[in-house]
Amino acid sequence: MSRLYCPFKECNCEIIPISKGRQVMLPVQAYEEMKIMLPAQAHQPTGKFLVVNDVWDFDNIGVSRGVPERHQPGGSIGFLDGTICTIVKTEKYLICAECDRGPLGVVCNVTRADGTEEALHLLSIESLSTGGSINEEAAALD
Ligand SMILES: [Zn+2]
Repeated sequence: MSRLYCPFKECNCEIIPISKGRQVMLPVQAYEEMKIMLPAQAHQPTGKFLVVNDVWDFDNIGVSRGVPERHQPGGSIGFLDGTICTIVKTEKYLICAECDRGPLGVVCNVTRADGTEEALHLLSIESLSTGGSINEEAAALD
Protein backbone atom coordinates (compact mmCIF):
# COMPACT_ATOMS: atom_id res chain seq x y z
CA MET A 1 0.00 0.00 0.00
CA SER A 2 2.23 2.79 -1.19
CA ARG A 3 -0.08 5.15 -3.05
CA LEU A 4 -3.62 6.40 -2.59
CA TYR A 5 -6.03 6.87 -5.49
CA CYS A 6 -9.42 8.47 -6.03
CA PRO A 7 -11.99 5.83 -4.94
CA PHE A 8 -14.19 6.36 -8.02
CA LYS A 9 -13.26 3.66 -10.56
CA GLU A 10 -13.87 5.86 -13.59
CA CYS A 11 -11.51 8.47 -12.12
CA ASN A 12 -8.88 6.58 -10.11
CA CYS A 13 -6.38 9.43 -10.32
CA GLU A 14 -3.41 9.37 -7.99
CA ILE A 15 -3.91 11.49 -4.89
CA ILE A 16 -0.67 11.03 -2.93
CA PRO A 17 2.08 8.53 -2.09
CA ILE A 18 1.47 7.43 1.52
CA SER A 19 5.10 8.16 2.41
CA LYS A 20 4.46 11.91 1.92
CA GLY A 21 2.38 12.12 5.10
CA ARG A 22 2.29 10.97 8.70
CA GLN A 23 -0.37 8.51 9.80
CA VAL A 24 -2.62 9.55 12.66
CA MET A 25 -5.75 8.33 14.39
CA LEU A 26 -8.93 10.36 14.72
CA PRO A 27 -11.97 9.45 16.80
CA VAL A 28 -14.27 7.33 14.59
CA GLN A 29 -17.15 9.78 15.00
CA ALA A 30 -15.05 12.24 12.96
CA TYR A 31 -16.31 10.67 9.69
CA GLU A 32 -19.90 11.27 10.66
CA GLU A 33 -19.24 14.72 12.13
CA MET A 34 -17.23 15.92 9.16
CA LYS A 35 -19.39 14.07 6.57
CA ILE A 36 -16.37 12.32 5.10
CA MET A 37 -17.11 9.85 2.33
CA LEU A 38 -16.51 6.16 3.01
CA PRO A 39 -16.28 3.32 0.44
CA ALA A 40 -19.54 1.74 1.63
CA GLN A 41 -22.36 2.60 3.99
CA ALA A 42 -21.57 -0.50 6.03
CA HIS A 43 -17.85 0.23 6.20
CA GLN A 44 -16.65 0.40 9.81
CA PRO A 45 -13.86 2.97 9.80
CA THR A 46 -10.93 2.71 12.20
CA GLY A 47 -9.94 6.38 12.16
CA LYS A 48 -6.77 6.20 10.05
CA PHE A 49 -5.84 9.51 8.46
CA LEU A 50 -2.78 10.81 6.67
CA VAL A 51 -1.52 14.21 7.84
CA VAL A 52 0.11 16.44 5.29
CA ASN A 53 1.41 19.92 6.18
CA ASP A 54 1.83 21.26 2.68
CA VAL A 55 -0.96 21.07 0.11
CA TRP A 56 1.72 20.80 -2.62
CA ASP A 57 2.67 17.35 -1.29
CA PHE A 58 -0.50 16.06 -2.94
CA ASP A 59 -0.35 15.01 -6.58
CA ASN A 60 -4.04 15.77 -7.09
CA ILE A 61 -6.23 17.35 -4.47
CA GLY A 62 -8.86 20.04 -4.53
CA VAL A 63 -9.90 22.29 -1.67
CA SER A 64 -13.61 22.99 -1.49
CA ARG A 65 -15.94 25.42 0.25
CA GLY A 66 -15.94 26.08 3.97
CA VAL A 67 -17.24 23.55 6.45
CA PRO A 68 -20.62 24.42 8.02
CA GLU A 69 -20.73 25.05 11.75
CA ARG A 70 -22.84 21.94 12.36
CA HIS A 71 -20.16 19.71 10.79
CA GLN A 72 -17.40 20.90 13.10
CA PRO A 73 -15.90 17.93 14.90
CA GLY A 74 -14.53 18.20 18.38
CA GLY A 75 -11.83 16.03 19.80
CA SER A 76 -8.21 15.43 19.26
CA ILE A 77 -5.77 13.85 16.84
CA GLY A 78 -3.31 11.27 18.11
CA PHE A 79 0.01 11.05 16.31
CA LEU A 80 1.92 7.77 16.32
CA ASP A 81 4.77 9.43 18.23
CA GLY A 82 2.35 10.16 21.08
CA THR A 83 1.78 13.84 20.26
CA ILE A 84 -1.82 14.95 20.73
CA CYS A 85 -3.36 17.91 18.92
CA THR A 86 -6.73 19.48 19.62
CA ILE A 87 -8.93 20.39 16.66
CA VAL A 88 -9.80 24.09 16.83
CA LYS A 89 -11.63 24.60 13.54
CA THR A 90 -12.26 22.65 10.36
CA GLU A 91 -11.74 25.10 7.51
CA LYS A 92 -12.23 23.29 4.19
CA TYR A 93 -12.92 19.92 2.62
CA LEU A 94 -10.39 17.99 0.56
CA ILE A 95 -11.82 16.62 -2.67
CA CYS A 96 -10.42 14.84 -5.72
CA ALA A 97 -8.92 17.49 -8.04
CA GLU A 98 -9.83 15.45 -11.11
CA CYS A 99 -13.52 14.62 -10.53
CA ASP A 100 -14.35 17.07 -7.68
CA ARG A 101 -15.88 14.33 -5.52
CA GLY A 102 -15.48 13.67 -1.81
CA PRO A 103 -15.05 14.86 0.85
CA LEU A 104 -11.94 12.73 1.20
CA GLY A 105 -10.59 14.75 4.10
CA VAL A 106 -10.41 18.16 5.69
CA VAL A 107 -8.11 21.09 6.29
CA CYS A 108 -8.19 22.04 9.94
CA ASN A 109 -6.49 24.23 12.48
CA VAL A 110 -5.16 22.46 15.54
CA THR A 111 -3.37 23.41 18.72
CA ARG A 112 -0.46 21.39 19.98
CA ALA A 113 0.11 20.62 23.67
CA ASP A 114 2.59 23.52 23.88
CA GLY A 115 -0.09 25.93 22.62
CA THR A 116 1.22 26.48 19.09
CA GLU A 117 -1.33 26.50 16.29
CA GLU A 118 -0.89 24.65 13.04
CA ALA A 119 -2.92 24.02 9.87
CA LEU A 120 -3.10 20.36 8.89
CA HIS A 121 -4.44 18.57 5.82
CA LEU A 122 -6.12 15.39 7.00
CA LEU A 123 -6.80 12.79 4.34
CA SER A 124 -9.02 9.83 5.20
CA ILE A 125 -6.97 6.78 4.17
CA GLU A 126 -10.01 4.48 4.27
CA SER A 127 -11.96 6.72 1.90
CA LEU A 128 -9.36 6.21 -0.82
CA SER A 129 -8.43 3.34 -3.06
CA THR A 130 -5.09 1.56 -3.12
CA GLY A 131 -6.28 -0.13 -6.32
CA GLY A 132 -3.55 1.28 -8.51
CA SER A 133 -0.95 -1.01 -7.01
CA ILE A 134 -3.28 -4.02 -7.44
CA ASN A 135 -3.65 -3.15 -11.13
CA GLU A 136 0.12 -3.00 -11.49
CA GLU A 137 0.43 -6.49 -9.99
CA ALA A 138 -2.26 -7.84 -12.28
CA ALA A 139 -0.48 -6.37 -15.29
CA ALA A 140 2.80 -7.94 -14.20
CA LEU A 141 1.24 -11.44 -14.39
CA ASP A 142 0.61 -11.17 -18.12
ZN1 LIG B 1 -11.51 11.51 -8.75
